[in-house]
Amino acid sequence: MKKNSHLSSTDFLYKILDTPSPTGMEIQAQRIWADYVAPYTDSQECDAYGSTWATLRSKQKNAPTLMLDAHADEIGFSIRHITDDGFAYVERLGGSDVAIARGRRLRFFGAKGEVTGIIGNTAIHIREDQDKAPKLWELYVDLGCRNKDEVEKLGLRVGDRAVYCDGPLMLNEGGRLVCRALDDRLCGYIIAETARALHERKISPAWNIVFANSVQEEVGCYGAQMLTYRIHPDAAICLDVTHATDTPGLAPTRYGEVKLGAGPCLCIGPACHPKINSRIEQVVSRAKLPLQRETSGRATGTNTDSIFRSREGVPSTNLSLPLRYMHSPVETADLGDVMATVDVLVEFIASLKTSDNFRHTLR
Ligand SMILES: [Zn+2]
Repeated sequence: MKKNSHLSSTDFLYKILDTPSPTGMEIQAQRIWADYVAPYTDSQECDAYGSTWATLRSKQKNAPTLMLDAHADEIGFSIRHITDDGFAYVERLGGSDVAIARGRRLRFFGAKGEVTGIIGNTAIHIREDQDKAPKLWELYVDLGCRNKDEVEKLGLRVGDRAVYCDGPLMLNEGGRLVCRALDDRLCGYIIAETARALHERKISPAWNIVFANSVQEEVGCYGAQMLTYRIHPDAAICLDVTHATDTPGLAPTRYGEVKLGAGPCLCIGPACHPKINSRIEQVVSRAKLPLQRETSGRATGTNTDSIFRSREGVPSTNLSLPLRYMHSPVETADLGDVMATVDVLVEFIASLKTSDNFRHTLR
């Protein structure tokens, strides 16, 4: 990649959101992320599948290691079949929402570069089953081609990936950001901004801090599994998005109450270690930062599930950014929550002493 001068925080946010990173194709965005955190960390590395991490080493001897993790991949599609008359049928990468797919624009990444496609939307007048969401195999992509040859000339083949065209948009200056893939690029941004904040506030952590951006979360939390094994951290905080339930039609009695703009959300559940959670709550109350709570009775549905049970068990928790319209092209988050999450992480890291142990002990 061509080295540019170092990006500003806002330019980095927009660049990382504009750079496609569908599951299994994350490396281009990872390079941008690694370049951004380079001035604030001691080293930047990536593993065989592209999970990328930057390390800030403690100046103290035998310092334990904290891993902050977000996932670098976004949901998308890949080409399953190209018909003789030039239409493409697709497979989902992760949990892409088929119900909102028709009539949308896609960016495909083929051998000759980017190709635009539109998901066909048969006119309402002549469409059968008007009220039903389509099945995945009923979606077809129009590439403006007359036949299969023309599709191949564009450089597209089976397996080539796509994401929605929708880039970042500030919603009427209200501090709310709309984009595809805020899940979980925004948490990768938060982790990078945490590295920058530590550097600029001249905080020298007692622990080694590993800032990680792992691949392939959307298809089974695989990148975090590989990375946790390699890093072998003493504690971990997983950053992902959670459902904001403050839009019409969502009952808090059923889904809990999580609001956009009310701060990050701490998960209470079996995977989320009570000793880490109580430290987070302590630093939040001392620094007067906002924090919401949510619970999960089983798995968290995030990388936390593969991090906490790595090796002999890693004390972990899940700190989430409230998000509306998850897995759609209009995912919406509040920038105040983004800043508050950075502050919570900085306070947590500043509170660490080398003697801290988040494991349970009998005595
Ligand atoms: Zn996610």
